[in-house]
Parts: sequence; structure tokens; C-alpha cells
Amino acid sequence: MALTVTRVTHSCVLLDFAGQRLLTDPWFSERRGYYRGEALAFPPGSLPELAGVLVSHGHYDHFDMAAFAAYPDRAVPFMVKKGLAARVRRAGFPNVTEVDPWEQASLGGLRVTAAPAKHSVPEVSFIVEAAGQRVFFGGDTLRIAGLDEVARRYPRIDVALLPVNGLAIRPAFNRQVVMTAEQAADLAGVLRPHFAVPIHYRFTAGPVRDRLLLKYDGTPERFAAALTSAAPGTQARILEPGEPLVVNGAAAAQC
Ligand SMILES: [Zn+2]
Repeated sequence: MALTVTRVTHSCVLLDFAGQRLLTDPWFSERRGYYRGEALAFPPGSLPELAGVLVSHGHYDHFDMAAFAAYPDRAVPFMVKKGLAARVRRAGFPNVTEVDPWEQASLGGLRVTAAPAKHSVPEVSFIVEAAGQRVFFGGDTLRIAGLDEVARRYPRIDVALLPVNGLAIRPAFNRQVVMTAEQAADLAGVLRPHFAVPIHYRFTAGPVRDRLLLKYDGTPERFAAALTSAAPGTQARILEPGEPLVVNGAAAAQC
């Protein structure tokens, strides 16, 4: 069975398991201090029919319900980090399940399991499975030891989507809140996916806020370079928004 992975922008990714589609961390608009820094593959009104939507945490650039409200199917199921359901319902989508790590739900024919994550606000990562294909979605987590458990529970992962920009908050004594490119490569060395796709790296708060508020430590190119020694069995795939990665189930299963 073919799996197609398409980055919409930032951490917003469309996962297509042979026609059963899931959207991660919806982000379609921009506002002051939040710029994509790259293209948007398509607007929310052009989304295909979805089996579900995953939300790792409540930051605007991962949870843009105002823009997602353009999606017509109000019954589409959401799976969100615990504490976010009320905001989904307020946006007009009543079908929502809250999860903490290792809780599971079925969205259409897809089995989704929440996994650990750590950020500046409560967050989960996700494992999505359908018909023998498995994807890990890392949201914008830090590289925490708890993520090693994902590899113990899921020894074979086809695609890992990993944040790489090493975001830190300058006024908070440069507190790091997202893993760096090298830390993401280290995690890939533990998860050992067939493909690793970097996410969360072109975002900018604008020139002034970047200088005063935010600091970045990671690019997709640095991630791909670090991967060659950290995870030699894993292929890096840097995807432009809208550029599909097609994974053939039979080929991936051999790894
Ligand atoms: Zn965030």
C-alpha cells in the first residue's frame, strides 16, 4: 500500500494512507510575529476529504482553528493533546478526542497513538498506523529521553517527521523549546525510520522579533548532514511544501 507524505507548510503535513488522509498541526494563516517563511501548499478550502486531524499542542502555528474553519465537514474527527478539546468544539467541530501519551484512538481506518513530547506548553507526539505503514509525527518537541520508548514499542517506522529548528526564547535566558537539527538526527538514530522528513524550520517571527525574542539552531540541510552518521540506515527527504514523498509499503517493509 502506498503512503504519501506532503508538507503543507511548517509542521502542517498531509499523510495519505491509500486514500485515508490525516492532517497534522493545521496552520494556514499568518499574523504579526508568525510567518511561514515558505510557501503554503494549498489553502484550507482546498483540503481533500480527511479521516482526521491531529493537534500536538495549542500554539497558533500548530492549531489554527480560525483558518481551519474553512474545512466543510464539521464531523471530521480531531485527536488533540489533553486540554485542547474545548477550543476545537468552539470552532465548530464537535468530534474531538483528547489524549495523553500512549492513549489510542481510531480515525477512519487509521490507528493513532499519542506519544511523549516536551515543549514550552503541554504537547504530545503521534504514531499513525494503517495497513502496515507507520509514521511518527514529532510536532515541535524537544529531544527528550521519553521518546526512546517510541522505538521500543514500535521497532519499525516507515517515516519520521522531526522538527529541527532548535527554537530558543531569548528573554527566557535562551531557554530551548524545540530540538536542534543534530538532536533530531540523534532521535532518528533511535527510531531508525526508513525516511526522515524534517519539519518546523522556515518559520520566522520577522526580523525585529527574531533579533529580540527568538533564536534558531537548526536547518534541514544540517539535519540531513547529521543523519549520515547518526542514522546511516535512514534516508533524509527535505520536502518543499506540496512536494510529495511516496513510500511503497513493500519496499519500506524490507528495512
Ligand atoms: Zn509550539
